[in-house]
Amino acid sequence: MSDSPRGDTPAPHHALPWGEIDTVLLDMDGTLLDLDFDARFWKEHFPQRYVELSGLAEPEAMARLNARFEGLRGQLAWYCLDDWHRALAPDCRNELDLIALKRELAHHIRYRHGVPDFLERLGAAGKQRVLVTNAHPASVDLKFERVDLSARLDRLFNAHEIGAAKESPRFWERLAEQLHFDPDRTLLVDDNLVALAAAEDFGIRHLRAITLPNSRGEPMDTAPFLALDDFLAATSALAPR
Ligand SMILES: [Mg+2]
Repeated sequence: MSDSPRGDTPAPHHALPWGEIDTVLLDMDGTLLDLDFDARFWKEHFPQRYVELSGLAEPEAMARLNARFEGLRGQLAWYCLDDWHRALAPDCRNELDLIALKRELAHHIRYRHGVPDFLERLGAAGKQRVLVTNAHPASVDLKFERVDLSARLDRLFNAHEIGAAKESPRFWERLAEQLHFDPDRTLLVDDNLVALAAAEDFGIRHLRAITLPNSRGEPMDTAPFLALDDFLAATSALAPR
């Protein structure tokens, strides 16, 4: 292998080749939005309210929740508020309304750093900006009440409408039937490493993870994927079309 000629500084290996990217597929929770809200809800608020609503002893309530968390990980049902309702409402003496419970924490819904400008720059450069999310449609609606995300996106695809989670090859096959994009000229940014692997298997060429999906959480090891941690730096050289 020969060395680069003097003065021909190669781009850092993690820099995105924007000239080779037409479509940017973007996850919502933990990528565009701070996962803090979801972590607070599922780890703290919801278990506490489930104990109150069910009247179960806390160890019994937590065992039921944890069994569901672990058993359904990576499946569409894990993300489905209707399924959660069906599974847990019979335990509850009072109405179990997951969206109402989420709404109690809605003040924690916020963008990750630099996201509005990042999306504006992608749009100005003519990139197709597409949300791909496993979040339940009612959760998406709640988040869109708090952040003006829909105005900054060109398309939105929800795993519940597609009928498969992003962790499944079926999601990507069905997405390709509904969205015009060239996998070889597409970037996916997602904090879900299993979803990134499924997208890679499908043939999506440019893949980036997120090191700190939750601003209050611990940094994640994103290997084998590179991380896109600074949305503003990553798009600083992106020229408007
Ligand atoms: Mg995510």
